Amino acid sequence: MQKLFLIIGAPGSGKTTDAQLIAKNHENITHYSTGDMFRAEVSSGSELGKTLNSYMSAGNLVPIEVAIKTIVNAIKKAPTPVIVIDGYPRSIEQMEALDNYLATDNEVELVNVIEVEVSEDVARDRVLGRARGADDNNEVFDNRMKVYTEPLADIQGFYQSKNLLTKINGERTIEEIVADMDKFIQSKI
Ligand code: ADP
Repeated sequence: MQKLFLIIGAPGSGKTTDAQLIAKNHENITHYSTGDMFRAEVSSGSELGKTLNSYMSAGNLVPIEVAIKTIVNAIKKAPTPVIVIDGYPRSIEQMEALDNYLATDNEVELVNVIEVEVSEDVARDRVLGRARGADDNNEVFDNRMKVYTEPLADIQGFYQSKNLLTKINGERTIEEIVADMDKFIQSKI
């Protein structure tokens, strides 16, 4: 059975960086980032990419069908026993869609959902400081934060009730956060 970990966190929480570093340290871990996968689609110049860009540049979620298809494809193609995906779920419907999918897939089990916690101030400073793309400005940041925060309590509650939620303090150095997260993942596999 492959083991799946999800990482969620506000924009600027560092979830993609943390997961990338962990995957680099271990041959048995594959990492995918929903944001990176959608940005790659946008960069390809495809029609789908153009559509995705219209959502992403405003800080809105891409449509549910695209999000669930992307994560299911990532799970199916992952060649290693451990899969780490960051950026999913970001809505209740995404969470339920994945839950339904996992109930039908006997090859993979959700081991834990790791939430990287940062305050809004830290998140804003990091996002505006790195300015990675068109969605990294104050106004779009506000919307991304709102979109992230709105379903958060329900998402936390859902995984908490299954005993699958772990919070990690994201307001430390990358080394400290990665060391913590890595230790946690290793303890579960
Ligand atoms: P951040 O966490 O800093 O917002 P990401 O790289 O995770 O950055 O996501 C960038 C954008 O990609 C989001 O604002 C959203 O438009 C889109 N996106 C990422 N993950 C999802 C998802 N699970 N569902 C819908 N849209 C997503």
